[in-house]
Amino acid sequence: MPITKINRKKQEKTSELIKKLLNIKDPNLYFVEDPLSKETISGKLSNVFTGVLTYTPSCCPACGSVNEGHCIIRHAYYESLIQLIPYQEVPTYLRLFKQRFRCKQCTATFSAQTTYVQENCYISNPLKFAIAIDLKRKISMKDIGERYFVSFKTVERVLDSFHREPRFNPHYLPAHLLIDEFKGTKDCEGAMCFIVSDADTGQIFDILSDRRNFKLRAYFQRFTLKARKKVTHIVMDMNASYSSFVKDVFPYAKISIDRFHVIQQLSRAFNKQRIQTMNQLKKSDALAQKDYRKLKKYWRTLLKKHKNINYSALKQFPLFQKRYVTESEVLDHLLTVDSDLRESYEIYQELLETFETKDYEGFFTCIDQLPAQLNKGFKKAILYLRKHRKAICNALMYSYSNGKLEGKNNLIKVIKRIAFGFRTFRHLRLRILVQQGLCELI
Ligand SMILES: [Zn+2]
Repeated sequence: MPITKINRKKQEKTSELIKKLLNIKDPNLYFVEDPLSKETISGKLSNVFTGVLTYTPSCCPACGSVNEGHCIIRHAYYESLIQLIPYQEVPTYLRLFKQRFRCKQCTATFSAQTTYVQENCYISNPLKFAIAIDLKRKISMKDIGERYFVSFKTVERVLDSFHREPRFNPHYLPAHLLIDEFKGTKDCEGAMCFIVSDADTGQIFDILSDRRNFKLRAYFQRFTLKARKKVTHIVMDMNASYSSFVKDVFPYAKISIDRFHVIQQLSRAFNKQRIQTMNQLKKSDALAQKDYRKLKKYWRTLLKKHKNINYSALKQFPLFQKRYVTESEVLDHLLTVDSDLRESYEIYQELLETFETKDYEGFFTCIDQLPAQLNKGFKKAILYLRKHRKAICNALMYSYSNGKLEGKNNLIKVIKRIAFGFRTFRHLRLRILVQQGLCELI
């Protein structure tokens, strides 16, 4: 066999191997002799593959003439540098010589096309796809950019071009809505964004850039009255002032306070009193200072539901002279420090207990009959719950809770933290929806 033939065979094999490696299926693309080199591109040492794209076009894309009898001629090659998925953490490029063609009929010139990269684009389709896949993960856009050696803007462009926003359907709203807010991006008009999810599935329904009442009213009025009538429960934060628009927009909806927020209100009130008690202890008194440290260290024991206190297991508690004591003994000691604190503790525990057993009558009887001498601050915080009597009763009567939404909000916090640098709300929203799997890949 002549040597040239062997060489050609070898070269074909190498070409096939590289195509496999780079996942190129286009039969018109092949690699020439010495296809891999190391070059410095944008200041980074990179792998550069050199390939050729050529074929015989069937017709002219400009005038539509069928390519018969050499009516389309090969012109020259056009060199382009296409960025690929990094290989072994090293930026990798394809220097592609694309065949140029010239149509004799209309004199138009055009380049050979491949499915591997879009026309006038310098980023390969597999790289774009890899970025699109990573956008679903909990990684910041900046990190994605760094991972693939592309700019933030490129990642944003992939986010825009690969994902279609879920289509607006005015005929559907979940029957049980959970609403909440979170801090938005700089371009938001209102300070806070608004999030709506389905109470039953915990799935995000939509994210709005503005939580002001008139904006929310306008948003929900885009849904048909029939859809809005089907909404039976709206669960929200205690401090939220959404009741006015809710009544206008959802004629049949009951408002519930998120149970998590009621518990939070109780524990915050009691915790405040604990700190107040601590600060009243004399600084000059060594014994009082010991109690100060104990109240400071064992705050969890005080806030715990009483039934979760351990009465039997002996443990060494550092501030108890390394004696072996039970958690209940620690609690007993903490409650002897101050009689006011003890009184509030009893009330706090009763409220927790009645709330947990969904005994709303017992819960509000306890609030209505608070002892006169109870700590003022604590009392005020507890009495605040009376303002939301109906909504709290609803929360206890029906089993919808913002628990899932809190989870979603934490997720958004995570997304926002990792996705630091969102300049526009639109991208923030799209990213969250992509991450939640609510956007179709185009
Ligand atoms: Zn033509």
